[in-house]
Amino acid sequence: MKKFLSYSLPSIGLEEIKAVNKVLKSGWLTMGPETKLFEQQFARYTGAKSAIVVNSCTGALHLSLLALGIGRGDEVITSVYTFAATINVIIQVGAKPVLVDIDKKTYNIDPSKIEAVITRKTRAIIPVHFAGQPCDQKKIAKIAKKNKLYIVEDAAHALGSEYQGKRIGTFGDTTCFSFYATKNITTGDGGAITTNNEKLADKIKTLRLHGFDKDAWKRYSDKGNWYYEIKDCGWKYNLTDLQSAIGICQLKKLDKLNAIRKKYALLYYHGLASIKGIELPFIDPNVKLNYHLYPILLTTYNRNKFITGMAQQGIGCSVHFIPAYLHPYYQKTLMIKAKSYPNAQWVYEREVSLPLYPKMKTEDVNYVIRTIKKVLQQ
Ligand SMILES: *Cc1c(COP(=O)(O)O)cnc(C)c1O
Repeated sequence: MKKFLSYSLPSIGLEEIKAVNKVLKSGWLTMGPETKLFEQQFARYTGAKSAIVVNSCTGALHLSLLALGIGRGDEVITSVYTFAATINVIIQVGAKPVLVDIDKKTYNIDPSKIEAVITRKTRAIIPVHFAGQPCDQKKIAKIAKKNKLYIVEDAAHALGSEYQGKRIGTFGDTTCFSFYATKNITTGDGGAITTNNEKLADKIKTLRLHGFDKDAWKRYSDKGNWYYEIKDCGWKYNLTDLQSAIGICQLKKLDKLNAIRKKYALLYYHGLASIKGIELPFIDPNVKLNYHLYPILLTTYNRNKFITGMAQQGIGCSVHFIPAYLHPYYQKTLMIKAKSYPNAQWVYEREVSLPLYPKMKTEDVNYVIRTIKKVLQQ
């Protein structure tokens, strides 16, 4: 039987295994020196003053809203075309998610539709950089400034992407990244918040670990002291040194990994360009992509039938995303319907994410291209 080409696989090498081994033997497993180092390197990579690493991007988004003081009675605007976490954290702080349709080209929130939903209660916008494609920062910044709104970026897809020559990580009041297993770098699970606001960074650090005025390293290491005070009612959202050791290795490889993604994405562009019935991802001249996903649209062929056909040929595909109004919970609590989101619905019905990750081989990419042609002819 032919091998199955997974939709996604992480790029873990001997370096990661050695690094974890070293931490395991060190006697210090939780947040400590590796985490501190990972945070310094992550801040340097993104160009932000501070980076705070946490257990997930979901945790990063949640802490961002909490630290900005967003809660009951507030409204937060985000894209209808995103992962559940972006919307759930708004509900979890007691605020109301206000969901906006997407741009048909970039699949990002349509900036021209934001102002119409701003009310006296609106406090923040969470732009999601879909597939690593940076949002229209210029337009969003203008709207935020005019209406005195915070910006919390959901950059789960966007590590290493650039907007007008600048890496993602410093546009919003905070930027939230994910190190989940399918993202451009992984620590198994994990996430980071970057910010240039040092007061906000301190608040997030406190909220990340119970509300402690100091972390475990400052309590138990040789330079530590047993005394601590609780300054706030915090969460248990820290990353561990085991994970940070993996993160340090992964961050070192990130640009190389993204270059492989780019090489494969270009093979897809060339291999699929002449096929009728496929719309390829838009390339914005203002941005540099990290090629987190390769989302194509099928304009004539049935999407679900296509995914089944690909699976029968041993290729895993995915769909990004199931829009919020199709999930029973958001339908019920937010009273939202497909007809308010024609662009999201149009994209959703046609979208397929092809396998794209550095562990693939060139021949795998070529096999995907050949198989697409075959399936479309059936
Ligand atoms: C993966 C993802 C998240 C959640 O990331 P976790 O690290 O798994 O919490 C949030 N937003 C988007 C757009 C994502 O794709």
